Amino acid sequence: MNRIIPALAAISLAVPAPVLANTPPPLPTLEQVADQALAGDERAWDFVSGITTEVGPRQAGTEAEARGRAWAAAWLKANGFRNVAIEPFMMDTWVPGDIARARVTGPFAQDLEVLPLGNSAATPAGGIEAEVVFFRTVDDLRAAPDGSLKGKIAYVSHQMRPAQDGSHYGFAGPARWVGPGIAASKGASGIVIKSIGTDHHRNPHTGGTSFPAGVAAIPAGALSLPDAENLERMFARAQGRPVTLKLEMNPRQIGQTESGNVVGEIAGRNPVLPPVLLACHIDSWWNAPGAFDDGAGCAIIAAAAMNVAKSGAPLRTIRVLMAGAEETGLWGSKAYSAAHIGEPIAVGLESDFGADRIWRFDSNFRESNPALHKRIASAVARFGVSAGSDVATGGADLNIVRDQKGALIDLQQDGTRYFDLHHTPDDTLDKIDIVQLRQNVAVWTQVVGILAGESTSILTGGPVPSAPAIMQDR
Ligand SMILES: [Zn+2]
Repeated sequence: MNRIIPALAAISLAVPAPVLANTPPPLPTLEQVADQALAGDERAWDFVSGITTEVGPRQAGTEAEARGRAWAAAWLKANGFRNVAIEPFMMDTWVPGDIARARVTGPFAQDLEVLPLGNSAATPAGGIEAEVVFFRTVDDLRAAPDGSLKGKIAYVSHQMRPAQDGSHYGFAGPARWVGPGIAASKGASGIVIKSIGTDHHRNPHTGGTSFPAGVAAIPAGALSLPDAENLERMFARAQGRPVTLKLEMNPRQIGQTESGNVVGEIAGRNPVLPPVLLACHIDSWWNAPGAFDDGAGCAIIAAAAMNVAKSGAPLRTIRVLMAGAEETGLWGSKAYSAAHIGEPIAVGLESDFGADRIWRFDSNFRESNPALHKRIASAVARFGVSAGSDVATGGADLNIVRDQKGALIDLQQDGTRYFDLHHTPDDTLDKIDIVQLRQNVAVWTQVVGILAGESTSILTGGPVPSAPAIMQDR
């Protein structure tokens, strides 16, 4: 650039002005717009700083999420997206209430930091007080005899480690996902778990849980990691005395309320070709401003779609899906699939793992369309992204693509610090590193640009059945 600009300046002095005015400047190539995104994209930052500042936490099914939808739709319109719409759906809505207290009452009386898990029942007013039964793992809880927890509060520990690929979420997550249901089925009157997280702040990590059909919900909370470790030390020092806990929380189910998906498009030159679908989610937990989860994801996909258009209208339409109510059970993903299942999607990609650097590219067409897989891999190598051999499964909001058995890509982000922030008040804008955010936008721009320019099937490399051959290379 530094050598080109003086050269252009010299030409403009030598050539008469009217000639230049009639010659539109050539559009930058896809590679150039991706490189420009790496150097200085501002659109993604504008989105994530805007939604966290002007909306903040956006619990699914609530008025706050509705403000988030309206904000996102207005942003898409203001930034040139076409066919921007909010597609409403109804969902079962749980709200956290305003009381969340845990206090060890013996033998070492003191308060612990606790928050309810999504779908937790309330305690009776004034709380419950019971002996705590300590389980190191979910399997230990599973092995407890039926009825053995009657009148007790279960506590489940586990050791979640930070990992670049976030894989320990699959290891530790069941304590939250199924631990409360197992404890309830064995008669427990409540459960607290060590937060599913990797930080050591006194912020509990909330998140969804569920109870099996026929098992009544019980009060279920997460302790902050330092408080959970303190509770475990109490067991070691209790010398056989019971450890007792008083737990009081007032979350509740409020029945069906409205949520919605926000959609918008960059129009393609061939409307007959199935679109490229880019997904993220709008909602966050009530306690989390949702910068990493998932304001950043919506910011990345929207900025990438806009960047692709800078190199000219893409062949295929690029559609963004900013889903509602992901956190509380993929309500938006299911509603989108139900409403649009008859409209083929060319390929789906989701950004929902923070804003740190993308380090690996995976697809589910490495064997069925190896030429395209290789072309994408070599195009993103300059951003430090390796070619993976895992089969991409797509993000949570891509149910429609899975339901259609379509093409999927996973652009794997560095998740080393993701679970320090996940579902906590620490999920704030200052945690986003703009240099890494821009790397995300650059990689997405490059990948989406390639996909949106493909005239043949992403999954197979063959002709697209829905598109007449004459249209394909228009
Ligand atoms: Zn998320």
